[in-house]
This record gives sequence, structure tokens and C-alpha cells, in this order.
Amino acid sequence: MNIILLGPPGAGKGTQAKRLIDAYGIPQISTGDMLRAALKEGTPLGLEAKKYMDQGALVPDSVVIGLVKERILKNDCAKGYMLDGFPRNVSQAEALDKMLGDLSQKIDHVVCVEVPNEELIGRLTGRRTCRSCGAGYHVMFDPPKKEGVCDKCNGELYQRDDDNVATVTSRLRVYDEQTKPLIAYYEKQGKLRRIDGVGDMADIFARIKAVLG
Ligand code: ADP
Ligand code: ADP
Ligand code: ZN
Repeated sequence: MNIILLGPPGAGKGTQAKRLIDAYGIPQISTGDMLRAALKEGTPLGLEAKKYMDQGALVPDSVVIGLVKERILKNDCAKGYMLDGFPRNVSQAEALDKMLGDLSQKIDHVVCVEVPNEELIGRLTGRRTCRSCGAGYHVMFDPPKKEGVCDKCNGELYQRDDDNVATVTSRLRVYDEQTKPLIAYYEKQGKLRRIDGVGDMADIFARIKAVLG
């Protein structure tokens, strides 16, 4: 099963993806995580991407399309995968359709997680991430047992550079302008599954499982 997780920054895509990995045994492909990993390694691609990420702007299509193309050919994707944070605009969606067509693959479901903007700002500015295992937390809504320390691996929790009010505001605008048109794009293909993303994380997970079957 091939899934796209669509939704604004902070909608809970990463949070739900972690649960879906366990439930369906398919990997999460997060272009954001891949770009941050490239930056951490100090690769030219990572350093180039940082300029855009710091502004809350989209990294050039060719960069992320190349990353996804390489990733979906890996063995662990044989039974399916979840795309998280990709595609982010119509030209990426068209490139994905082309890429999958060439591989005789297709997207089965586009899970669109809906959360109002007012709630997104609080979620993003309170988000904390584990430096070692990538687990996500929230200072109020999902705090770790010990402040600043990951429950799962004792790793250090950090705040992403782009999770500040100014950058969050541009990311939300970029979502409205460039990513939202994908809702109509996938609705036309009959693949869109709208999920209410407000409420308990476990309830939202149950809603997603109900549409995926
Ligand atoms: P969030 O989980 O908050 O939505 P991501 O980790 O998906 O954030 O993305 C962080 C940043 O990485 C984006 O603001 C953008 O600069 C870059 N990025 C991630 N995915 C893409 C993509 N598919 N196309 C262009 N830029 C991307
Ligand atoms: P995305 O990947 O869509 O950008 P995340 O999964 O990283 O979003 O979630 C953003 C922040 O909101 C994280 O700090 C996470 O712990 C928190 N969060 C996720 N789901 C919920 C929820 N249902 N209610 C409250 N906070 C949530
Ligand atoms: Zn950890």
C-alpha cells in the first residue's frame, strides 16, 4: 500500500506516520527528515537546502524529487511506503505520478490531516524532536517523562530551527499557496481521504486506520 500524508506543518503527519509504520509495516519517507539528515552530515545538498528551510520556503523541486526517486527503489519499499511532506506542490505531484507510472506503481490513498491554523502555531512552537531517534514530543500536549530527554532512547530533545513564530508563519502561507491545491488534485483522482486532525492522537490514528482498512 502506497500512501501520501498530506496536511499543513504541525498537522501531526510525523506523529501518525510513526504509528502507521508499526501497524502496516511500511516505511515513512519524510523529505523534511531527509533534508535535515543531509544538513547534519554537512553535504552540499544539505547546505543548499538549509537556505530555503530557514526561510520557511520550499526547497527546489529537482532536489526533493531526486531524493524520493532514489528512496522508493530501496528494498524496504517493496510492500509499500508512506510519503510524508512530499509532494508539496502540483509540479512535485505530477513528477510523482510520472515516476510511479514508469515503475508500474500507484498511490492508493492520500490521507489529508486537517487542523485549523490557530492550533498549528501552538503545536509547532512547542514541538521537540529527539536528536538520536527522531521521536517527536510536545512540551504541553505530549511531554517526555523527563524534560529535554527522549523517553525511548534517552537522546537529547531539541527545537527545530524553523519552529519559531516567524518561520512558522511563512510555512503556513507556503502551505496555503502551494500545497493546498493538491487537495483538489487528489480529489479529482478519487484518492483523497479527509481526516479531522484535532483531538487525541490515538483517536486520530483510529480515524486513519478506518479509511485505510
Ligand atoms: P513539517 O513536518 O513541519 O511540515 P517538514 O519537515 O516536512 O516540515 O519540512 C521542513 C522544511 O523542509 C520545509 O519548510 C521545506 O523547506 C523543506 N521541505 C520538506 N519537504 C519538502 C518538499 N517536498 N519540497 C520542498 N521543500 C521541502
Ligand atoms: P507534522 O509532521 O505534520 O509537521 P508533527 O507530527 O511533528 O506534525 O506534530 C507537530 C507537533 O504537534 C508535535 O509537537 C506533536 O507532538 C504535536 N501533536 C501531534 N498530534 C497532536 C494532537 N492530536 N494534539 C496535540 N498535539 C499534537
Ligand atoms: Zn530518542
